[in-house]
Amino acid sequence: MTTLEQNLEKLETYLTHVREHGILNQIGDEARPAMSGATFDNQSPVDESFICKVAKSGAEDIDAAAKAAKEAFPAWRDIDPVSRKKILHRIADRIVARADEIALAECWDTGQAHRFMSKAALRGAENFRFFADKAPSARDGQVLPSATLMNVTTRVPIGPVGVITPWNTPFMLSTWKIAPALAAGCTVVHKPAEFSPVTARILMDIAEEAGLPAGVWNLVNGFGEDAGKALTEHPDIKAIAFVGESRTGSMIMKQGADTLKRVHFELGGKNPVVVFDDADLDRALDAAIFMIYSLNGERCTSSSRLLVQENIAEEFQKKLVERVNRIKVGHPLDPSTEIGPLIHKTHLDKVTSYFDIAKADGATIAAGGEAVEGKGHFVKPTLFTGAKPSMRIAQEEIFGPVLTAITFKDEDEALEIANGVDYGLTGYVWTNDLTRALRFTNKLEAGMIWVNSENVRHLPTPFGGVKASGIGRDGGDWSFEFYMEQKHVGFATGQHHIPQLGK
Ligand code: NAD
Repeated sequence: MTTLEQNLEKLETYLTHVREHGILNQIGDEARPAMSGATFDNQSPVDESFICKVAKSGAEDIDAAAKAAKEAFPAWRDIDPVSRKKILHRIADRIVARADEIALAECWDTGQAHRFMSKAALRGAENFRFFADKAPSARDGQVLPSATLMNVTTRVPIGPVGVITPWNTPFMLSTWKIAPALAAGCTVVHKPAEFSPVTARILMDIAEEAGLPAGVWNLVNGFGEDAGKALTEHPDIKAIAFVGESRTGSMIMKQGADTLKRVHFELGGKNPVVVFDDADLDRALDAAIFMIYSLNGERCTSSSRLLVQENIAEEFQKKLVERVNRIKVGHPLDPSTEIGPLIHKTHLDKVTSYFDIAKADGATIAAGGEAVEGKGHFVKPTLFTGAKPSMRIAQEEIFGPVLTAITFKDEDEALEIANGVDYGLTGYVWTNDLTRALRFTNKLEAGMIWVNSENVRHLPTPFGGVKASGIGRDGGDWSFEFYMEQKHVGFATGQHHIPQLGK
């Protein structure tokens, strides 16, 4: 039996439960269908086969979940933080125990290649461990004495929060948002993406098994325009942590305006990888390829624009074409596969529409440039060369395994091109000139920059974007700044003069 066949056999066992029962919401201690009884079908991007039915929820389900989260909030806020830490660690333990199931289900549901996804479950566990360890100090503040007052600050959790996640790496991103919210003492209503609901349900089951009190974490499945919208408008939900497209973020901001929602946005990107002629070009090539073609290019931090210095461009692009043509597109559960199918047909159509756009605008398709014939949403890894910075392929987030290469003359031009987009999530700079690296990163408009490296996440560091790529930061203590309020109390240290009125 091949590894692919073994994986498919295991997957069938893992999916037995969801195939039989469908994906239910979780409201308080009850796993239940949508109140209307409505469902929708969840399909695999691999072959468009039916996976399971999913609860299609509306405003009434969100209302019940928000009430459950509100009711559970005071006890969860006030629980001994060491107990909170232990529960979150138990969630991490159980994620590790079910990592194989999570990885296989996620690949089948999203089309991501197993070779990358097998680690995503463990990264999810690490997110829980990292924030579990921070739970006991989440309320820490400062003492800021003045002449007459002992001023004390503490942090308090903001209340029930809504978490809305996208379909790319949904498991990892859900843990990335929910773990800090729970560690802070908030309760949660989670609305996962309609295209990838399976692992969100597994995660919910894990939380229950780990002893998380009922109502602390609720799950409501459904579409953005009904369940998602209702969550952002609900008066009991104090904040929305959202990961998804920039234009959805803008809609959420409007929807949340009447209830003055606090928002945290991780949005789109059109991230540059800038390769100067003095760089270690072999390593730069490895990193540039990895950062756009891994995870199907469905990755917010992908290096979707290659900016390469013109005197090395021809040689660099020649090697790039050879490598891109060798990337293996295939079944996501086959360990040799490097690119799996894109999430859904509409997304495949969006990605492939850029092939005609590129040609019409005068760029060259140096590799790929077509969908793969047959079932499933497969597309060949694609490289555009000869692109100009103003072209749509150089400006718009394509969100697939598609790289746009642009050449530049010197540092100033590279910076102008790099900054000349609406987005500002990540940047990757390749040079062995330290002064140039310092100068360039200082002016590059991005929330996160790596020099001579691909994206390597370190949880204590701030994660987030500038411009249309986001609002707010996650990681370290920054997550708590979003999920918590600062509270100040001033204690008089003596009988200082109080201004006298009406005496
Ligand atoms: P999307 O914006 O279409 O959907 C994301 C989530 O929002 C889904 O759960 C969806 O149901 C919900 N939603 C849609 N409309 C809504 C509304 N009106 N109100 C409330 N919720 C609504 O995004 P997607 O296509 O699922 O994900 C891909 C996008 O996510 C890309 O742009 C990518 O760059 C971005 N992303 C960013 C980061 C980051 O860290 N910056 C990480 C991952 C993905």
